[in-house]
Amino acid sequence: METVQTALSAPIDAITENPPSSKKQPPAKRGVPEGLWLKCEGCSGTIYRKDAEAMQNVCPQCGHHWYVSAVQRIAQLMDEGTFEEWDASIRPTDPLGFKDRKAYAERIVAEQKRTGLTDAVLTGTGMIRARRVACGVTDSSFIMGSMGSVVGERLARLTERATAEKLPLIIISASGGGARMHEGILSLMQMAKVSAALAAHSKAGGLFISVLTNPTMGGVAASFASLGDLVFAEPRALIGFAGPRTIKATIRIELPKGFQTSEFLLEHGFIDRIVHRKDLKSEIARAIDYCGGRGAG
Ligand SMILES: [Zn+2]
Repeated sequence: METVQTALSAPIDAITENPPSSKKQPPAKRGVPEGLWLKCEGCSGTIYRKDAEAMQNVCPQCGHHWYVSAVQRIAQLMDEGTFEEWDASIRPTDPLGFKDRKAYAERIVAEQKRTGLTDAVLTGTGMIRARRVACGVTDSSFIMGSMGSVVGERLARLTERATAEKLPLIIISASGGGARMHEGILSLMQMAKVSAALAAHSKAGGLFISVLTNPTMGGVAASFASLGDLVFAEPRALIGFAGPRTIKATIRIELPKGFQTSEFLLEHGFIDRIVHRKDLKSEIARAIDYCGGRGAG
């Protein structure tokens, strides 16, 4: 599944060290991660990297939202120094001895090395503008942010702990991979497990805010990411279940333009609000207050 590289490291692949004047540039070499310029997929502009970084990885010209890692996301959302990770000791295994182009066991090790994460989600607690929350963030750079046993278990435990400690629950999804095929049925079971924990959280009166970012697809979109009391999305994020070609081949009708974007889904009532990255922290804090400022009970 080398496709991981394209979706995720797009910002990095797009880096070039050439000045903005030269239009046609050779593809950036791997291993040159810190270029000065970024090519924007939104406006095709050549953007000074520092300008984009100063705007939390958003294009200063067109507002295109680039990838941010789970670690960066937590730094953007949480009050400084307040985040404490939970369940870091839960680590992935290879229960099926699965192998595609690469053995899954080897892939895990390689992804861990490359991303600095142990699996595709970080969970824990922290403060958002002085409001304590339980928070999970998936990272699309780790096997496409797909949900295997570890992602499911960490999110289920996060939810249960949010319920027990009466904390508002925030999950930010960046998952292009859906359920992780390398763990087969065990991955598919995570959808039901996390959803059941969320149902219990809801029953206890707990607040759950789901934030969909680019991309949120497959089994992630089809389970916890869609179950928020409030569902926010970043602008122009790709959100859906199957890819457009699969849907078209199955139902044999022409699909409306942009039907898997935040904007289309807002129009059709699937999400509640599109929130620019710079406003996300304030919007979450406001939503928590609006909903009574409590996680449960
Ligand atoms: Zn742009």
